[in-house]
Amino acid sequence: MLIFDWDIHHGNGTQQIFENDPNVLYMSIHRYDHGNFFPRSKDADYDVVGEGLGKGFNVNIPWNKQGMGDMEYVMAMQNVVMPIAYEFNPQLVIVSAGFDAAIGDQLGGCKVSPEAYGHFTHWLSSLANGKIILVLEGGYNVNSISHAMTLCSKALLGDPLPMLNVPSRFNGINRSALESIQNVVKVQKEFWKSLKFDKKLPDFDFNENKITEEIVKKFEDLKMEVVDTNVSGSSKNSNESVPGPSTSSAQTSNQINEVKKQTLTDFLSDNLEALNNEEMFAIVPLKSCPHLSLLNPEKDPEGKN
Ligand SMILES: [Zn+2]
Repeated sequence: MLIFDWDIHHGNGTQQIFENDPNVLYMSIHRYDHGNFFPRSKDADYDVVGEGLGKGFNVNIPWNKQGMGDMEYVMAMQNVVMPIAYEFNPQLVIVSAGFDAAIGDQLGGCKVSPEAYGHFTHWLSSLANGKIILVLEGGYNVNSISHAMTLCSKALLGDPLPMLNVPSRFNGINRSALESIQNVVKVQKEFWKSLKFDKKLPDFDFNENKITEEIVKKFEDLKMEVVDTNVSGSSKNSNESVPGPSTSSAQTSNQINEVKKQTLTDFLSDNLEALNNEEMFAIVPLKSCPHLSLLNPEKDPEGKN
């Protein structure tokens, strides 16, 4: 049996009842705040993994800050809860379904949307041949509870669910949440082989512009150029085409001129052995599509670009 507890509070009682039992896997996502959130016990931390035969069958995902929302919960579900749940392969799933992590709940101080609860229910329904029980534990904002439970009911009935909203000003996963999940994976991968792959988690500062800049930088570092046989390339021309920061253009140009530029052909011939051994593959695009005439054989593609 899997007991999954998404209530904002750690289920210390449930944990205690089953901590020696390998037949009951208890997993909980809750606020911990370094031990300062109710019920204020170190029992809720990530390193509490069960006792005796039940070792590894207790999974705590503790948040150390308030304000966790859909993205942080999805990260916890996809990187910890669902992989372990699939591996455990329960015959029955029971959800401790308190809605005090929902958006609008003053006590919980988190921001899980009703839609997200629906999706979590849907994901969990893929376990145990759909044998899932949502045990309601309340929450402190009646509107949030009602809305969230409506979406969970829709999920249980197999209704299509609304898509999750990614805020337009999404600044990335909360750093503290990422640390929590990394800690959980670190201790739990001893017990669950699905966590051993070290799946790459998002970076702290997820920023699309920054990522694009990094990719551009990496390409520039490669110093590879496609050979264009039509251009003889005087030294003056190649000087001008050298990419580099404008601030120190003269110096940079000189430096790059000293480094012999590697062309794609050079690169491939340097790695000929790897290519022959099929350790590396190269896909060289054709200048035009050889299937174009097959598409419309009567008409000559003349005049088409
Ligand atoms: Zn609670």
